[in-house]
Amino acid sequence: MTLTARVAALFFLIALTSITTAAASDLKVVASIKPVHSLVASVMDGIGTPDLIVRGAASPHGYAMKPSDARSVSNAHAIFWIGPGLEGFLEKPLKTLGGGARVVRLGPEGHDTAGHTHTHDEHEADLHIWLDPGMAADMVRQIADTLASIAPQHSAQFVANRDRTLGIIAALESEIRVILTPFRDERAVALHDAYGHFTEHFELQPIIALSLTPQHPPGAARVADVRAQIEHERVRCVFAEPQFSEKLIRVIADGTGAKMGRLDPLGASIDEGPALYLELMRALALDFSGCMKQ
Ligand SMILES: [Zn+2]
Repeated sequence: MTLTARVAALFFLIALTSITTAAASDLKVVASIKPVHSLVASVMDGIGTPDLIVRGAASPHGYAMKPSDARSVSNAHAIFWIGPGLEGFLEKPLKTLGGGARVVRLGPEGHDTAGHTHTHDEHEADLHIWLDPGMAADMVRQIADTLASIAPQHSAQFVANRDRTLGIIAALESEIRVILTPFRDERAVALHDAYGHFTEHFELQPIIALSLTPQHPPGAARVADVRAQIEHERVRCVFAEPQFSEKLIRVIADGTGAKMGRLDPLGASIDEGPALYLELMRALALDFSGCMKQ
């Protein structure tokens, strides 16, 4: 190899490295929704703060991207989301703006970023996977692996943060199990199909969902059907959610004897940040048991 060729090869390597790795101060990471953001923020603690797209009390179901979201996506080194079944609004922007980023679908389908398989299997429809602490732990491992490969100079910090976060999740899991165990045989109704992973993990009865997603409100026949179910199966609680009208829940529960409660599966009423996941899960368990105890 001539000297010029060697120099050229060296420059090529440097250029390649600068694309795939990022310095501490400019590691730009985007998370789709609050629970994902919280887990990413916990793994990035001491290194940086991820951007969040669906902020405040907004819902990912039917979200509309803002120009600032588009900027975050196009500047990112890594983007974490659940997938098109939950954050459908991100599917196109990731293709058109996210070209420079490592795009990571969290959860069971994991590293599969290529094909978009839209399954309509009933269980697949519920992508609120973070409500299962075991799946949240898998998400944390995926996040740490991804960040360590993008910014290897911080891998020791990512590993330490990952292990601390996994410890917090394990303790949280035991705490919630104790809170929920007395209510394993109780039935409940909620607004949308968001709690399958939660009830399955904690061995609760499946929660009856009024509709699959909040964009498709139930018709009169479905409302009548659920009211009949509440009476036949002695449903103890009917749960509203922060993003959606409580009027519907009142219509459902009215005159059935069921109590009304509130569940917040996204952390809509909790400040974003590393502690959100813990607070969200603890509040979910306490809100569930609080209504059941009435
Ligand atoms: Zn949802």
